[in-house]
Amino acid sequence: MDFAFYGAPADSCIGDFADRLGQALSARGHQQTSAQPGTKLVFSHVDREKPRPFRRHAQATYIIALLRMPEEPSDFLLAAYPYLVRSLANLLLAVVGDPQHPRTYFLTLERGWYPIRAAFFAPEHAEEIADRLTPLATSQLIVDNIFDADLEEVLWGGDAATVQLRRAGETLDAWNLLPAPFPIQEMLPPEDFRHLQHLYQLGGLSYGNLSQRRDQKRFWMSGSGVNKARLEEVGRDILMVKDYDDGQRAMRLSVPPQVRPRRVSVDAIEHHMIYREHPQVGAIIHVHAWMDGIASTEVNYPCGTLQLATSVAALVSEAENPAQAVIGLKNHGMTITGHDLDDIMERVDGKIIPQVPMS
Ligand SMILES: [Zn+2]
Repeated sequence: MDFAFYGAPADSCIGDFADRLGQALSARGHQQTSAQPGTKLVFSHVDREKPRPFRRHAQATYIIALLRMPEEPSDFLLAAYPYLVRSLANLLLAVVGDPQHPRTYFLTLERGWYPIRAAFFAPEHAEEIADRLTPLATSQLIVDNIFDADLEEVLWGGDAATVQLRRAGETLDAWNLLPAPFPIQEMLPPEDFRHLQHLYQLGGLSYGNLSQRRDQKRFWMSGSGVNKARLEEVGRDILMVKDYDDGQRAMRLSVPPQVRPRRVSVDAIEHHMIYREHPQVGAIIHVHAWMDGIASTEVNYPCGTLQLATSVAALVSEAENPAQAVIGLKNHGMTITGHDLDDIMERVDGKIIPQVPMS
């Protein structure tokens, strides 16, 4: 893959770090170029006073914001996350602390954050980072939607499954498992927000999703960026996923006519794979929380990628009972299957740990 650096480093500490990272990637056969609109991986130095994001021209460009924080923030997530969003980046790498003993952290859009184990000046430091970010940068997003206004009239008002979706959403909210959607619209200048919407059709960053099977091929799923505590209208809050279009790399949705549809959750591809491979799975929930003793994916691929979907679906297949499995998504959350949503909610009641372990 080709990679490039964009913008000026905040100081020599992060500048030297960027050089070492570039060398580690080159040693792995990747080509350093100047930052072009189509570059596969762009490291964008963050100017904390005046963030000037690198504007990708395609979803396929993966942007990593490089942030220098000389002072140790009391709450890293709170302090660093806005820079991830304002950089229009997919991932943030932060170099934190005084230049003699800095530490390095990854921060994902899913709000996972974890330190690099190797010491900052050790040769294996840049190598560990290069090895961890390469699979993320080359993963493939499946976030496009194709809407067909062909949902049968009897389903315009929902069915027994959408009743369960609404109820499960309310319960997750009562358990405090639905963090407030991140207000990117308030955080970004209007032209940057329009740019993001154009690329990803994002309405807002929200976390978690739920779905329930309708029939052999189709399932209902919560929309992207909607409030999961109030799943009401079909076509807006709850979408009918009817297929995955491999040629167009897009999810195909059935919506009622006369509704201006919202997009389905970015994890629809993952749910689609699990339902297709396991006819006995009737419902799926994804939350940013954890449970004791669960199997976990090894690489924290981003939400909405084919690679995350494949790795989670593989673990569901390996589970003792795929129809009632609890799968950990490394540094991210859990995906839980069940006969229906009521079954999942009964099984996990009282067992959920709100904090996802990070490593
Ligand atoms: Zn997630």
